[in-house]
Amino acid sequence: DDEARNVGLLGAIAASALEIVWEIEEVNRRAETDPLTGLANRRRFDESLQRELSHSDRFGHPVSLVLVDIDHFKRVNDSHGHEAGDAVLRMIARTLADGVRTVDLCARFGGEELAILLPQTTAGGAYELADRLRRRIAARPICYNETEIAVTASFGVASYPDLVRSRDGLFQAADAALYGAKHDGRNCVKLADASAVQPTG
Ligand code: GH3
Ligand code: MG
Ligand code: MG
Repeated sequence: DDEARNVGLLGAIAASALEIVWEIEEVNRRAETDPLTGLANRRRFDESLQRELSHSDRFGHPVSLVLVDIDHFKRVNDSHGHEAGDAVLRMIARTLADGVRTVDLCARFGGEELAILLPQTTAGGAYELADRLRRRIAARPICYNETEIAVTASFGVASYPDLVRSRDGLFQAADAALYGAKHDGRNCVKLADASAVQPTG
């Protein structure tokens, strides 16, 4: 009887310990996830980027960054409402997440800024992927409350270490490329131009 009682007590202790572990895992997951889209948040993205850049420095493989910005998103909110805008964001997030490899990481930095981290991917490979995602978004209007909302997105691509040699440089270069895509009429992908990249060491 004593042994049975002890086993029962140990079981109860183990169960509450497990519950705590699950709760910690859930808290950690939430701390790394964007609640609207379910994509990684900025914090998780930055951690993964740092890790990939260190790997790249040791093993020499490239890392690419794609920045995504929805075109005329303000108009979507203005014409269809903020809820519809949120639905568009979620659908675009899903198109990105469904279109990448499992090693790639899609993130939302807040607002309508999305990013994709592509380990072991050259600038050319990243460009091809971004253009495939761009075409998918443009081809499929988003259904919200029986209304079809057509949206497009612009993409900026940069690659480490061929084009840029620092984390900040990678963001600056991808951002400049994204700006170029907007300037060129939107719904397009631009690769960072080496001449536009600031030497940041
Ligand atoms: P551009 O093609 O130049 O990117 O035009 P844009 O209208 O997308 O750019 P702008 O930066 O002027 O507007 C972004 C809009 O995105 C403004 C803001 O109301 C909206 N927005 C940002 N975050 C959210 C969000 O979480 N949900 C919704 N529904 N809208 C958002
Ligand atoms: Mg924007
Ligand atoms: Mg926008």
